[in-house]
Amino acid sequence: DPLPDLDFAKDFYAKYDAKEILGKGASSVVRRCVEKSTHKEFAVKIIDITNEGDGSLIMENQRLETLKEIQILRLCAQHPNIIELHDSFESETFMFLVFELCKKGELFDYMTEVVTLSEKRTRQIMRQLMEVIAFIHSKMIVHRDLKPENILLDDNFNIKLSDFGFAVIVAHDEDIDTGELFGTPGYMSPESIKRSMYPNVPGYGRPADMWAAGVIMYSLLVGSPPFYHRNELRMLRMIMEGKYSVSTADFQDISETAIDLIKKLLVVDPKERLTAKEALQHPFLARKDKMREGFD
Ligand code: ADP
Ligand code: MG
Repeated sequence: DPLPDLDFAKDFYAKYDAKEILGKGASSVVRRCVEKSTHKEFAVKIIDITNEGDGSLIMENQRLETLKEIQILRLCAQHPNIIELHDSFESETFMFLVFELCKKGELFDYMTEVVTLSEKRTRQIMRQLMEVIAFIHSKMIVHRDLKPENILLDDNFNIKLSDFGFAVIVAHDEDIDTGELFGTPGYMSPESIKRSMYPNVPGYGRPADMWAAGVIMYSLLVGSPPFYHRNELRMLRMIMEGKYSVSTADFQDISETAIDLIKKLLVVDPKERLTAKEALQHPFLARKDKMREGFD
């Protein structure tokens, strides 16, 4: 019975001082905050559970979605590369999720700053990403919104996967049968786009995350996304056909091994695509860098 919990907004503000905005989403604002008793810094995601229209049904959905996000975050707790949920509160209008703070912000901003990453740096990031995907996939959790905006960096530039707002637990890899498109167009898998357009094609599951990982790896090395068109429908068609370039000047300085891994991730047929476990065995990721051997 949720009723006794409905006035926890006051509790949040009693325990924390809210500070500047760190990021914004469709129905949330993320702010730095300081726990009064410890003076420790955190990030609070404040989710407006009334903001989607006026239908009380939809309002309830936003609340239920957030409760699901919390549930999945708890299932993922303890992994070093997953954002840690420290605390949560609920009021009639807002939910507050208090996370560990990632001062270095999003991988997205880091990429914008450095444009392209070396293969060694790409290997470090992709290895952490594949490990964390293998971990959630072993729990049958599909993230569904993997992109550099949702990958945060800690003080040592280790990744922290965050934003489990679209994540779901599946029974098998064709389990997600929504007719709606979820996520961000440039990272959507061919099978999830097809599923939203044609009711007779199978649902999708964990391989959709591996496609997004392929898009991320491509973007890290090349400095621009593999699938892009001003016309979104055309872009979706390019994705469904798996049409991206690997032969331009962009790929000149990139090793065969790296290109091979990208090709094995950006495979249109989800059954033929590498799993996270398999990707970790791929020569590009399995290889050790001399400088990092102590850490591996
Ligand atoms: P949404 O579901 O609205 O996309 P996110 O959980 O992705 O919400 O948070 C939105 C943005 O807020 C992120 O892209 C990031 O810039 C920032 N942010 C979220 N969590 C943290 C955190 N723990 N530390 C630092 N910044 C964060
Ligand atoms: Mg996000």
